[in-house]
Amino acid sequence: MIRDHFRVMVVNLTTDKTTIIERSGRSEVLGGSGLAGRLFEEFGLMDRDWDDPEQPVIFAIGPLTGYYPLMSKTVCAFRSPYHNEYTESYAGGKSALSLRFADLDALIIVGKAKRLTALCVGSRRVETRDVEYMRGFDALHTGRVLRKMFPGSGRRSIMRIGPAGENLAAYACINVDTYRHFGRMGGGTAMGVKNLKAICILGDRGFTLPEGKAYPKLYKHIFEQLTTTEMMAKYHGLGTAVNINPLNALKSLPWKNMQQTSSPDADKISGERFADDTLLRNAACAGCPVGCIHVGFVREQFQTNNQYLYRQVGYDYEPIFSCGGMLEVTDTGEVLRILDVIEKEGLDNMSTGVAMAWATEALEKGVISEKETVVKLTWGDAETYMQAVEHISRPPNDFYKLLAQGTLKCAEHYGGEDFACVLGQEMAGYATGEVFFVSEALGFRHTHLDSGGYSWDQKHEEQDVDGALDFLIDDARGRIVINCMIGCLFSRGVYKDDLMDEALDAVGYGSLSGKMEEIGERVQKLRWRLRLGMGYDPHKIKIPKRYTEITTWKGPLDTEYLEALRTGYASRIMALGAPLEDEE
Ligand code: SF4
Repeated sequence: MIRDHFRVMVVNLTTDKTTIIERSGRSEVLGGSGLAGRLFEEFGLMDRDWDDPEQPVIFAIGPLTGYYPLMSKTVCAFRSPYHNEYTESYAGGKSALSLRFADLDALIIVGKAKRLTALCVGSRRVETRDVEYMRGFDALHTGRVLRKMFPGSGRRSIMRIGPAGENLAAYACINVDTYRHFGRMGGGTAMGVKNLKAICILGDRGFTLPEGKAYPKLYKHIFEQLTTTEMMAKYHGLGTAVNINPLNALKSLPWKNMQQTSSPDADKISGERFADDTLLRNAACAGCPVGCIHVGFVREQFQTNNQYLYRQVGYDYEPIFSCGGMLEVTDTGEVLRILDVIEKEGLDNMSTGVAMAWATEALEKGVISEKETVVKLTWGDAETYMQAVEHISRPPNDFYKLLAQGTLKCAEHYGGEDFACVLGQEMAGYATGEVFFVSEALGFRHTHLDSGGYSWDQKHEEQDVDGALDFLIDDARGRIVINCMIGCLFSRGVYKDDLMDEALDAVGYGSLSGKMEEIGERVQKLRWRLRLGMGYDPHKIKIPKRYTEITTWKGPLDTEYLEALRTGYASRIMALGAPLEDEE
């Protein structure tokens, strides 16, 4: 049954008390990203650091979760250990549907448990278990233990951290169910600092679907759009890994710590090659008929008994770029083996790959020595990279401790800032040009998902500062509306504003129709206000020298254009995040 208010569970790990609260504001922020922002305004502590026990970790879903295909994501909002400011991360799996079936629009965790703890919540159940014995368990092992500890049906989601989150690496992730993650900006550490090893969400209630013909008819229409048109075909086929070859041809594929933007070896780790050599099956988030998750296999032989073990490892474009091309590892199986270790340790694979690429170049240039890296990091040598991943997660020395806090922080101490491939955080895999570099470096979440700067670069040879900045702001606002719903961003070509109005109307939220643009703008400002209120100054963001040294399909990068975009975008962000008048 739809409702205008939000039903929110607040779990306090310090006091072991749980409350259910209700909040209004559906017509102002929809849910998802907007709801998380509103709740952070209420529960977040602007004047205390990310590791204060009272800082909240917030999980929220949207008004269409469970009603339509691909409305399958959950947002996790927290003060990031990476930059000590407000941030968000998104994941699918079964998390969103489980929250819907648990009758919760949001779950807030505050406080800190005395010992390592697993939390289980349902619509009528809250339980904490002491799991101190699981300290150091990898994320896969933890998942297996949790499934036995909290048995449940398909409407059960298990979110947990690996050793990296326990050890407070700034880019530790939260592993969600199988092959999904709240990947970027350190959500795993936001849990780890609370001594929270895992959260199990039990979707233990039903929910009623709308009566009448309008809803099933619209559902069928949306389902067909998502499954029978070309729009989504690439995500199921080769998946996002299909981007390797076209980006390589465009000289936009970061390679070898972005010393190059293309390589004759790229085809060895292309989507086509991964499909031929390793693909075992596709998987999907709950409620998704597309199934973009590609699962490859790695075969290992035991020395002792000559038996083989097959491991299943998820892959897509970003991990192939970061742990393949950036490290010049050009064997599909070797890339999967590195990703398998990252998965177990509970690290963000993009940040980890890019951090190791910087360390390899720093070692090669003599900026650091093997005394720091412990292993001889060498381009293409997967074995040493697998060991380095464990060192980032469980640091044996000060160097790895600092590398686990971020590549640029490490480079500021040891040297080598010029070639740190960092755009707010370790970069995403698009060396497309000036607009993307500025959009990721300054953007709200520092991801390629904030706005389509990479797409602008690929379509526009002309230099149009105002046009590009208008595009970044408008495109981000459109994505924010999807992030309030919360739909998978891959479906944004289908879920346009008009269709979203219809979808809301068909389930009983007709009063929200026609408000998408207004709500998008409101939430865009809210998120920036929170971030700027914690000290973010986009004017201070630097773009490392490496980005000015590359050549793309348009030729050498233009530093004047880059600078005009950087200062222009910073000013626009400051304007968007200006305090509300009654706060001044
Ligand atoms: S397209 Fe992929 S990421 Fe998106 S909902 Fe479906 S399986 Fe999940």
